Amino acid sequence: MKERLLEAEWNNITFLSANQSQTLRGKIPYDPSRENEAGCMSRLLRFFITLASLASALAQPLAAQTGGLNVVVTSKPIHALVADVMKGAGTAKLLVDGTASPHTFSMRPSDAQKLSQANVFFRVSEALEPFTAKVVRALPRTVKVVTLAEASGVTLLQRRTGGPFEAHKHSHSHGKHKHGSEPDDLYDAHVWLDPANARAMARAIAATLAERAPADAARFAANADALVARLDDLSAALKLELAPVVERPFVVLHDAYQYFEKSFGLSAIGSILVDPDEQPSAKRISDLRRKVGQLSAVCAFAEPGQQPKIVASVTEGTPTRTAILDPEGIMLEPGPDLYFKLMRGLASTMKSCLAAPA
Ligand SMILES: [Zn+2]
Repeated sequence: MKERLLEAEWNNITFLSANQSQTLRGKIPYDPSRENEAGCMSRLLRFFITLASLASALAQPLAAQTGGLNVVVTSKPIHALVADVMKGAGTAKLLVDGTASPHTFSMRPSDAQKLSQANVFFRVSEALEPFTAKVVRALPRTVKVVTLAEASGVTLLQRRTGGPFEAHKHSHSHGKHKHGSEPDDLYDAHVWLDPANARAMARAIAATLAERAPADAARFAANADALVARLDDLSAALKLELAPVVERPFVVLHDAYQYFEKSFGLSAIGSILVDPDEQPSAKRISDLRRKVGQLSAVCAFAEPGQQPKIVASVTEGTPTRTAILDPEGIMLEPGPDLYFKLMRGLASTMKSCLAAPA
């Protein structure tokens, strides 16, 4: 009963149009005049990739001799897992660095060159990282591409869509290309937020690396074992930490937390998606404020760089508190510990916002 109610509420509070969601996700205002620029860029990238693949074909025997694997990873959360599995046997290069969002990242020619010389390229998925769609097709065959969202043992959850204000079902998972018909697009792309998925990904990472560098296979396997054990501990600790607040309703700005909620039994009631580029109308703000009040949301969670003022105006005059969550780790330093910091950070922010008396 409660579940059905939550689902209905979710549908009612998802206020987005396709255009809004596309621009919201990346925190970078959408500018149609950049479309052409992007076209040129992708031709340029293709050119560089072709050049670099020639170079890497020539360099292959040398890479094999020197041993060390050249590994490139798209986003910070999975970079952390790869870096952990590779400890003592090399380092992984991160593509979407700094405060960039995987949803709107675009590669520079120097990134393309780096990538075309890789032995292994790990990504979450095309849905999370639309920039990888064309790139992957242009890469030389010497680059082993691994889409971790498709790894064996990873549980995918369908995207939450619906609601009267939504033009059509779509999320930030689309970039500048259509891929509505791709099965990938049906799933919520934030798969790493379930520690069980992180475990499955750690195993897949170790298996891929071992295939490419058999001499280090034992090390990768041992690192993955240790990582899996730490992930189990993390999962148990967060479950305990969040147990007192599982019943407390909250809303989020960006619907990125489904895997986290399901893992720990939390009660999200909806996402408020607003275009960072356009100020929402006063009526829209008041509609949202009424919903948040009706559903007695204890907290509304914003994200780094995503217009805290909008969240504040939605919760103004309601007892709903606000806090900031960083599901993609854009504010964290990359490295093997990032995954744990990210998950603990989400849990402690949620806990402290939800636990305080209303
Ligand atoms: Zn996201």
